[in-house]
Amino acid sequence: MRTGFPDFRLGSVLATSFTGTLSERHGEAVERIPTPHRLIDWLAVNGLAVDSCTGAQLDLARELRESIHAAATAAAVQVALPAPAVQVINDCSVQGRAAAILTPEGERRWRLSSASRVEDALGVIAADAISIIAGERDGKLALCVSPTCQAAFFDTSQSRTRKWCDMNTCGNRQKKARFNANQRKNPRPAK
Ligand SMILES: [Zn+2]
Repeated sequence: MRTGFPDFRLGSVLATSFTGTLSERHGEAVERIPTPHRLIDWLAVNGLAVDSCTGAQLDLARELRESIHAAATAAAVQVALPAPAVQVINDCSVQGRAAAILTPEGERRWRLSSASRVEDALGVIAADAISIIAGERDGKLALCVSPTCQAAFFDTSQSRTRKWCDMNTCGNRQKKARFNANQRKNPRPAK
């Protein structure tokens, strides 16, 4: 999908893939859902297709995203969950009317109601966030060690020692930075 907008970073966990639509929160932030249409695109690739999205719905989506980010960050560092964030997550979860559908092939699909599709999709994302923040799923919330990122991610590795939200972006960048720093520390002798 070539759109002229920043690409999506897609992970296997819906809620943290969603919070990843804003990256580099502690550096030069990259907004990956800058328009309602990009939210429609993101939802489509995540199995939550909607046919329209208003500016107000995009605002609501971003509010949910930042609330999940705040609550997941608190859970990762084991401090009290911020009450306003919890409220937004719960409101979105309550408003959603999506139904889980089992396909004949044994896969789960989401069926969104016709009246409030974006809200239904956000409800699915909110419920996913609740399940990881509540510690119901096999894995552990952690924060990306990249100083400009610090995204909350869900570590499902065996050893629970994953350091970066995404190996291909933050992990790679960090490795390159370390390599360059070593080069500077040990410059080649001048001829
Ligand atoms: Zn990161």
